[in-house]
Amino acid sequence: MQTALVLGAGIMGLSTAWALSRAGFAVRVVEQDVVPNPRGSSVDDHRLIRHAYGAQAGYMRMIDPAYAAWNMLFSEAGERPYVGTGVLALAETAGGWLEASTHALRGDGHVVEHLTADQVTDAYPFLLRDGIVDAFRLPTGGVLLARRIVAMLARLIAARDIPILRARATNFDPDRASLALADGTTMRADLLVLAAGPWNTRLVPGLAARVRPTRQILVRLAPPDSVAEAWTRAPMLLDLAEDGGFYAVPPVAGTPLKIGDHRFSPTTDPDGPREASAEEAEAILHFARRRIRDLESYRVLSAAACWYDVETTERFVLEKAGERAFVMSGFSGHGFKFGPVLGLALARAARDPALVGPLAAWAAGEAAPAAGLLDDIEEDTSS
Ligand SMILES: Cc1cc2nc3c(=O)[nH]c(=O)nc-3n(C[C@H](O)[C@H](O)[C@H](O)COP(=O)(O)OP(=O)(O)OC[C@H]3O[C@@H](n4cnc5c(N)ncnc54)[C@H](O)[C@@H]3O)c2cc1C
Repeated sequence: MQTALVLGAGIMGLSTAWALSRAGFAVRVVEQDVVPNPRGSSVDDHRLIRHAYGAQAGYMRMIDPAYAAWNMLFSEAGERPYVGTGVLALAETAGGWLEASTHALRGDGHVVEHLTADQVTDAYPFLLRDGIVDAFRLPTGGVLLARRIVAMLARLIAARDIPILRARATNFDPDRASLALADGTTMRADLLVLAAGPWNTRLVPGLAARVRPTRQILVRLAPPDSVAEAWTRAPMLLDLAEDGGFYAVPPVAGTPLKIGDHRFSPTTDPDGPREASAEEAEAILHFARRRIRDLESYRVLSAAACWYDVETTERFVLEKAGERAFVMSGFSGHGFKFGPVLGLALARAARDPALVGPLAAWAAGEAAPAAGLLDDIEEDTSS
């Protein structure tokens, strides 16, 4: 039996461990922290999945296989930590991301419903209409309950006899598929997968020139009673104002309403503090105040920092890091939704060297999946 070592128990490492186990590998996972790891990029109440991707048709087309992979996972786990919400996207100028998304989506036969500013505030009275020039709604898309999913995956791989060893890796040898650990021991396998999130750049030579860790702020809110129920039925909100847009995740399944933005901070140390300052929280609230009616009546529950690992052009890096090692990196603010599909594709390429190049090109959003790359995914496009 082939053996595999996976470094990191975030969504990428756990999904890949699951996929490699399905493919017949005997897998072990190494994680420096508890699982789910509150310091990891994967662990928060929610992560969003949506087809709208601007002009990035490669990632748009990865969404249906992503849903199929989630459905495989949920079916094996016997639970479905996902809430379909649909998408509401707003812009203060014509053209841009909304137009590019509409063009790509309609080209692939997706339903896109454009709304006027009045239609937006009629349907969602807790929003302000000022400045809305373009808007669309998509019926697909929703909220992946991320912390629950990571815990579910940890249980699933335990049931597959995959151990998660609590240890910190200090180095690796890609040609021997080995990890050197901080306690001085070494672990070896036939295959090594480096899925260390924003910490990857410390370990993998050359990666820091392409991928950088950034600190991102999110704010959790409790809406006032008058609109609390309406928010639970709201779509995810993408507000694309040029001088400071934000996203809002509705308070589904008992989670808080969450707002955040996608501006990257300067490169920062992923071991930095997770608490956000009052000034950092205010910077996000400032953008939301323009769009959410009476935001002052919402209670701020908490504000936190979470780390992205940002590739220069926001493409995913799924590559060989040497003879017998793969690296998974560059997931920025959009990797979670693709964890299981990327894990399944990597497990396929691990068994077929001809798929290694096509895996990298597809994961970068640059190419359609090569024949065979998605063969481990059972056909299912329900979303
Ligand atoms: C605020 C925010 C919002 C986001 N929103 C979305 C969204 O809506 N939709 C979406 O699809 N994506 C979203 N993302 C992105 C997504 O969450 C990440 O791309 C994804 O979680 C990355 O997972 P990962 O497994 O690579 O990293 P992580 O979850 O960080 O896992 C890496 C693990 O490796 C471990 N590790 C690191 N170094 C070592 C070592 N030396 N030894 C042992 N263990 C080690 C770490 O402890 C960690 O647990 C968001 C991210 C953030 C921060």
